[in-house]
Amino acid sequence: MTTRGPLLENEAIILLDRKEREYLRKLNRGAKISIRGGRIPVDDLIGMEEGSTIRSSMNEPFVILRPTLAQLIPNLPRKAQVIYPKDTGLILIWGDIFPGAKVIEAGVGPGALTLALLRAVGSEGSVISYEIRPDFAEMARDNIANFYGPTSNWTLKVKDIILDLDESDVDRMILDLPEPWQVIQKAWGALRPGGILLSFLPTVPQVKSFVDTLRAHQGFTDIQIMESLLRFWHAKELSIRPQHRMVAHTGFITVARRLTNATIKPL
Ligand code: SAH
Repeated sequence: MTTRGPLLENEAIILLDRKEREYLRKLNRGAKISIRGGRIPVDDLIGMEEGSTIRSSMNEPFVILRPTLAQLIPNLPRKAQVIYPKDTGLILIWGDIFPGAKVIEAGVGPGALTLALLRAVGSEGSVISYEIRPDFAEMARDNIANFYGPTSNWTLKVKDIILDLDESDVDRMILDLPEPWQVIQKAWGALRPGGILLSFLPTVPQVKSFVDTLRAHQGFTDIQIMESLLRFWHAKELSIRPQHRMVAHTGFITVARRLTNATIKPL
């Protein structure tokens, strides 16, 4: 959970070296942070203000900051691909995630999107996450506990969402799994009228299957497909230009709105 004021025990921090490279660490009291061949006692960092500079035992300076979600997500411990911050930004807006919302997400993977969803729904909302693999569920549990802290607004279900989807009156549903079209009928049952179904998919044939199934179902409308290309810039003295490397492709976001029960023809 993002906080303010002096740095606290057990918080996550980002250390930036002279080249602004990022190192994600935790403030475990009594421990020493190993960084670029030097060490920094954690007890020296607890109580400092964000934006302070500290020197390691190698006399190398590091700036300390609380990580933003954009810094935390790419540095998150993981065994599966996460949704990148450039796409998380779109998902929060086009998925219209609001404080107090009831949101379902599947799968969880390392929990990168989960962090952003939990923050967006706030303490009045709820996020219910489905993950088929117990080992990924465990990793997500660790990451959320480590980087978000205690969560009363999160439920993690180790289940296959294609077979088992128990919720009703859901505001928003985000699917980041290979065959989301298999969830459409159950998603329609779980979402409230006006609710939003969103999928994140890496390839065009997957998007086609998803959209074709949505249209054939007839219970959804206002289908939109989008992708984002985010190019960072380098700006130092006269060298003001795009950075040489960029992440050129991650996935396509598809959103659709659920119609009322009355608009769908009985089967
Ligand atoms: N959105 C996550 C990454 C998810 S990776 C993040 O941003 O961190 C995709 C996950 O979906 C994997 O962990 C995989 O195990 C899970 N998954 C695949 N099929 C599933 C299903 N039918 N039900 C639940 N989870 C599923």
